[in-house]
Amino acid sequence: MEIRVVENLLRANEAVAMQTRAVLDAAGAVAVNLIGSAGAGKTALLEATLPRLGVSAAVIEGDLQTTRDAERIGRLGTPVVQITTGKSCHLPPQLVLRALDGLDLRSARLVLIENVGNLICPAEIPLGEHFKVAVLSTAEGDDKVAKYPMLFHLADAVVINKIDLLPHVTFSMDRVRDDLRQVGSKASVFELSAKTGAGLEAWLDWLSGRARPR
Ligand code: MG
Ligand code: ZN
Repeated sequence: MEIRVVENLLRANEAVAMQTRAVLDAAGAVAVNLIGSAGAGKTALLEATLPRLGVSAAVIEGDLQTTRDAERIGRLGTPVVQITTGKSCHLPPQLVLRALDGLDLRSARLVLIENVGNLICPAEIPLGEHFKVAVLSTAEGDDKVAKYPMLFHLADAVVINKIDLLPHVTFSMDRVRDDLRQVGSKASVFELSAKTGAGLEAWLDWLSGRARPR
């Protein structure tokens, strides 16, 4: 009986995600779901990315509480909607669909969705996004790919942030790349520092290349 409830919930999420995808596609916008731990630097990555992207973008910010991240994005002049989930450890598809109403999708070629800081359920809950990006930081340790294989298996790109900290932390890039192969990842991998700007170019090329021509 319980299995049926879970199945129904998953199917309901899937249905809403399909609606979201249809709204995005009708506007010619491409959505990217950024997933990573709290403190991986997802908002910092957006702050480093948006001014250099060369493609019009809008942002949906997900957090349990506060509008702090949306304020950071708003200061860049990028259209942004904040979703505060309260107790939910992931962005629910229903709220993302509703957030689209607050954005002018015809003037945004990319919709960047910053999920709630969490490596688990955001990986499996569909939001209607076209691409998933896993954001990992060197400060978290190099064991996360093996411990959270689902996210890294599904991700279209993996950003390894905070490479400026490499001299100060125990983090083997080889181990991460080996583990990515182990989980069957086909992701493009970008080693960068949102803080110093090192390595940003390749990431910017990949991301801007996801947008559809208009
Ligand atoms: Mg954030
Ligand atoms: Zn959750």
